[in-house]
Amino acid sequence: MVPNNETDTYTVKPVGIVRSVFQDPADVPIKGGEARIEMFPGYQQGLLRIAENSHLWIQMWFHKADRDLLSVVPGKVNSDLPEYGVFSIRAIGRPNPIGLTLVRLERVEDNLLYVSGLDAIEGTPVLDIKPYYEQEIVFSPITPYIRPKKREMRQEIFLKQALNHHQEKCAGLLLGVRMALIADDYFGQLNTRELKITVNGSSCLADVLQGLSNARLANPPRFRYNETNELEQSIWEKDGKLLTITARQLITDDEFLDLEDEQLFIINFE
Ligand SMILES: [Zn+2]
Repeated sequence: MVPNNETDTYTVKPVGIVRSVFQDPADVPIKGGEARIEMFPGYQQGLLRIAENSHLWIQMWFHKADRDLLSVVPGKVNSDLPEYGVFSIRAIGRPNPIGLTLVRLERVEDNLLYVSGLDAIEGTPVLDIKPYYEQEIVFSPITPYIRPKKREMRQEIFLKQALNHHQEKCAGLLLGVRMALIADDYFGQLNTRELKITVNGSSCLADVLQGLSNARLANPPRFRYNETNELEQSIWEKDGKLLTITARQLITDDEFLDLEDEQLFIINFE
């Protein structure tokens, strides 16, 4: 049979199942959470040497999804956004509701994979698992800005992105996420050619802000860095406007959530 007919069907069998604390799709945070993938008997050999990877793509069957959807407003993120085709966005509902999520592999025990960052509910069938390779990384892709309406959700997304990039939750990372949130308030999308960034401070802050803004040193030149122990500062420049954010002090985990922008930073916009 030549597979070129739209009436053709293919059979997939789950190789495992998600064990998660989330019972309802509405409860699953954008950043996902900790979960366990239980491989079914007979598939354990397929996990041979999987622990050599830190990150995996998990393909799932979102069994509760609406399969008749072809376009949707991403309302969970921001109900003010326009409609997007389901192939242009990561909506759950789609003709073949295949979920694709990049997770961090924490550990492997026999037929169990302990992962973090999985956005699936308890009982979601797992169709396939593939390792994430470095040659797949595109540092600064062009993407639509699906801007969450709520600042807390923007913070959640920035935090996940920063952790993926920087790989440790240090003071520089927390400062960087808060600075990026302020820059987003003033300028909108951070990954845009017109926005230039200068960092004066620690290498951790510089690394995090480069990861969040996707600003490269060249082609086009958007990123400059001066290493210093004297201060933690980022300067954002777009359309002749200049936003300078200077930390009053280093912050801890709790303060990251509790303090107001003005308590953390001296902000200057001109
Ligand atoms: Zn760091």
